[in-house]
Amino acid sequence: MRHTWLAILTGIAACFLAVLPSNAFPTPQAKTKIAANHDALSVRVVAYKIEAALDPAKHTIKATETLTYHNLTGQPQQTFPFHLYLNAFQPHSTWVNEAHRDRPDDEWKPEHFGSIVIDHLAVTGMGDVTNKMQFIHPDDDNADDRTVMQVTLPKPIPPGADVQFTITFTDKLPEVVARTGYLRDFYMVGQWFPKIGVWWKGGWNCHQFHASTEFFADFGTFDVQLTLPQNEIVGAGGDLVSSANNPDGTKTLAFHSEDVHDFSWAASPSFRVVEDSWTGSAGTVQIHLLMSPGNMKTAPRYLQAQKGSLKLYDDWIGPYPYDRITIVDPPHGGIEAGGMEYPTLFTADTAWLMPKGVLLPENVVVHEFGHQYWYGMVATNEFEEAWLDEGINTYMEAKIMDAMYGRDTSVFRSRFATLGELEDQRAGIVVPGYLGRPDTDPITRFGWRFYNDSAYGSVTYSKTSLVLRTLEKIIGEDTMRRALHTYFLRYRFTHPTGEDFLKTIEEVSGKDLRWFFDQAIYGTNILDYEILDAQSELLNPEKSRDAKSSPPPDIYRTTVDVHRKGDFILPVEVQIKFDDGKTILEHWDGRDRWARYTYDRSAQLVSAEIDPEHKVLLDLNLYNNSYRARGDRRASRKLSNIWMFVAEWFAQLLAWFT
Ligand SMILES: [Zn+2]
Repeated sequence: MRHTWLAILTGIAACFLAVLPSNAFPTPQAKTKIAANHDALSVRVVAYKIEAALDPAKHTIKATETLTYHNLTGQPQQTFPFHLYLNAFQPHSTWVNEAHRDRPDDEWKPEHFGSIVIDHLAVTGMGDVTNKMQFIHPDDDNADDRTVMQVTLPKPIPPGADVQFTITFTDKLPEVVARTGYLRDFYMVGQWFPKIGVWWKGGWNCHQFHASTEFFADFGTFDVQLTLPQNEIVGAGGDLVSSANNPDGTKTLAFHSEDVHDFSWAASPSFRVVEDSWTGSAGTVQIHLLMSPGNMKTAPRYLQAQKGSLKLYDDWIGPYPYDRITIVDPPHGGIEAGGMEYPTLFTADTAWLMPKGVLLPENVVVHEFGHQYWYGMVATNEFEEAWLDEGINTYMEAKIMDAMYGRDTSVFRSRFATLGELEDQRAGIVVPGYLGRPDTDPITRFGWRFYNDSAYGSVTYSKTSLVLRTLEKIIGEDTMRRALHTYFLRYRFTHPTGEDFLKTIEEVSGKDLRWFFDQAIYGTNILDYEILDAQSELLNPEKSRDAKSSPPPDIYRTTVDVHRKGDFILPVEVQIKFDDGKTILEHWDGRDRWARYTYDRSAQLVSAEIDPEHKVLLDLNLYNNSYRARGDRRASRKLSNIWMFVAEWFAQLLAWFT
């Protein structure tokens, strides 16, 4: 998901600009093809068959789900947990409580409520087990939370055997909130069916739905039949297998998807479909773009960002193995559905009259497509280790945005000011920045246990990205890329852990990096180096003045004191420049709290700077990193651009006040 404030700003802008669209676009037949037969890419633990019917008048879905679960847990299983995500949108749910705690001013309207009710549950060979269901609360003691249900069967399922659940359920969709729901004639249907938990690390992993957490599920196949009015244009996370009109004015579309762990879909009679394709190392990828009314001007921008991401991911990380990607452009006012990822489908974000210099549409596409790798294929536990999807993805987002749109202009560009991703991730102009909440929580904290929503965003997205960018400077850009490539190839279609990721980096780099990981990943230490003092003094001034013939050159004693203000220890370079043009580069291990460098030279100090190549993106305060001698016309601080200054200043101010 895109954890951004810009989406909110865009939404506000869109509200001012929006006039409700009234036109309906024609309904072209989706041009998809069935994935070529190939060996399974994943261990297919689940096989879902869902027959669902949408009632647009009531905003409900009635469905029957047949889930075949392969018991690969290595032991008998009698109790199975299921996520019922839509019940998060119920009064007093854990999700609502947490959202209200973090955003007390948010208005929670009755139309935001949604639910999922299991009407009937049966198990093949065991019959009706509806009354064996109970709601559980593995994360808190909130008895009102109904986002996890578990069912205990009359007898256990042996290891290696299959169990088949047949579940009849009814969804009541909310008006679009937190990724899901309807808005006028638009439907974004995600997290909408009972989804079984993951057997992981010797136990069931099936967390409640929290305000700041996302998802975790096993790989498998999905065969989904959707029945809905014939004028609906549908995008889904699967290949369209068949489409048939029914006598009652509805149609039934059948989709198939494999080696994925979720299935979502969007529908609207107002979508305008743009088809394109891209060919990479794994073949041709069909790009289905479903544009909402009034947004067509953004379509070429979406497509450019999509193709650029496909290419750079293919070049740097690995192949995209699916034959399609579907981009859903939410309608005006639908930003709550924007910027969200599902396997082979994601939602984008724009606004009417979106200026070319605001790279929000590009940014969201690059981010959400990145999730096809970090979440879609490398399917980490988003509840417990969100940094592995959001953090790695945000690091990659910055790399790709920088490569495509320029390092200093990848967020915003105008004649008067620019903003790049890295500055933004530090200062938090449009995303929760690292400087805003640098030390309340370690990166590895479970998603719902962060100090608050802002800390979760700041640390999980921005800090992780800056940690990886700083690490890249330590081990080298090529090595970092090889490490990510190796990690992807080794762990795609599995559920790796943070340690799997870190060990891969150590293995590929051939370096023991525990000292860095312990501080940056597992710790909360602040990293802040400063020039504490720097000066040049004339040595023996009397003698120098009295010298009559061929006086010896004046000798100055220059001292530069560097200080480690925070507890984060990182070796840094210190660059000292003299007025005779000489430059000295010192390497300080940073272990002590301070160090003094002394030089007796016939030249005076011009400047001293810690980390002159700006490798250490985790340094909390960059202003105290440099000293320039007074009177030097170059004494003004080096600013890559005016935004850097404004951003850092504003972030510091925010940090003091919050
Ligand atoms: Zn994300």
